[in-house]
Amino acid sequence: MTRAVEQVQDAAAVRVRFAPGIRSTIAAEVARLGATRALILSTPGQSAMAAEIAAALGAATAGVFSKAAMHTPVAVTDEALDYLHACAADCLVAIGGGSTTGLGKALACRTDLPQIVIPTTYAGSEATPILGQTEDGVKTTLRDPKVLPEVILYDPELVATLPIALTVTSGLNAMAHAAEALYASNRTAASDELAVQGLAAFVTGLPQLLRDPADLRAREDTLRGAWACGTVLGQVEMGLHHKLCHTLGGSFDLPHAETHAIILPHAITYNSRSAARLLAPICDLLGGSNAGLALYTFARSLGAPLALRDLGLEESDLDRAALLATARPYPNPHPVTAPDIRALLQMAWAGGAPVV
Ligand code: NAD
Repeated sequence: MTRAVEQVQDAAAVRVRFAPGIRSTIAAEVARLGATRALILSTPGQSAMAAEIAAALGAATAGVFSKAAMHTPVAVTDEALDYLHACAADCLVAIGGGSTTGLGKALACRTDLPQIVIPTTYAGSEATPILGQTEDGVKTTLRDPKVLPEVILYDPELVATLPIALTVTSGLNAMAHAAEALYASNRTAASDELAVQGLAAFVTGLPQLLRDPADLRAREDTLRGAWACGTVLGQVEMGLHHKLCHTLGGSFDLPHAETHAIILPHAITYNSRSAARLLAPICDLLGGSNAGLALYTFARSLGAPLALRDLGLEESDLDRAALLATARPYPNPHPVTAPDIRALLQMAWAGGAPVV
């Protein structure tokens, strides 16, 4: 089968490009936005990637800010905003995972500057108009069209450096968006199709990447999956799974992708009590008759973390986590009660298979 070297997709206002080495077009993309002074964003760990982009942009680099942090702390955004004003940036280039994308979105929310995102994980934030921010130990989420990036450059060479453990957890994070999209009350035929497309990309791609993390074909296919999963996340409402992960991330500072990987089988098993038919595409892809158990078996086969206690969560934190995650109602196919969620968290904390 022949494959186009590169495809360009202009969906709504978003320009999406996939190709190995596509990051080298950054100067043309900045110019295309009519911008001349880009602020480049990264985490400390990816400052070398940011430096490469700065070098490619040359005089169009206004500055580099490499302090992006997990869960988009407002204090970091405030510091970056001061820097943005000081260097008179007129566009944002975020190179990194969801943390860096989150910082870019937080700055766009405050300034309405255009954004180019070069994702290096599968989190999918680049494809949504959603911004999650953390302040005083609480993570809140908003939706705003200003927050949706204008351009996404998916470069498989960049995810090829993602350590295999993070490849697996980040892929499961993406799958979680698609899994919850399947039972969203505002789902559509198009969102269902995109969700299944995203899930299939990871069901095929993650085992391939376990065998060969540098397989650029599998990296590109999984990036396409990340785009599909991120896009459905932006289109439909999320339920219990995302609520639990936001609570554990925002209030207990647990790492994002690992938390998603651990919670997903438990949340989907819980919701399969009311939404088994809607979750059937997961069984079709993975085998088995319960979507949550199928996800647990898949995650375990990939060597994913299975227990919240291994992320440093104390058993004594579970009561508060259950209360926080059930404090306000949200859409979910199966009724949510504090005792049921406390029991779910106990299982996820211990790491055994979810009880159907
Ligand atoms: P991350 O961006 O924090 O990255 C995790 C770690 O991996 C970081 O240290 C980073 O420097 C490193 N890393 C990233 N890419 C790498 C690569 N290619 N090679 C080597 N190291 C690499 O983690 P994440 O899971 O991508 O994103 C999590 C954040 O994204 C959370 O704050 C979450 O809330 C947010 N998020 C938001 C949305 C949304 O729509 N708003 C969607 C998904 C995730």
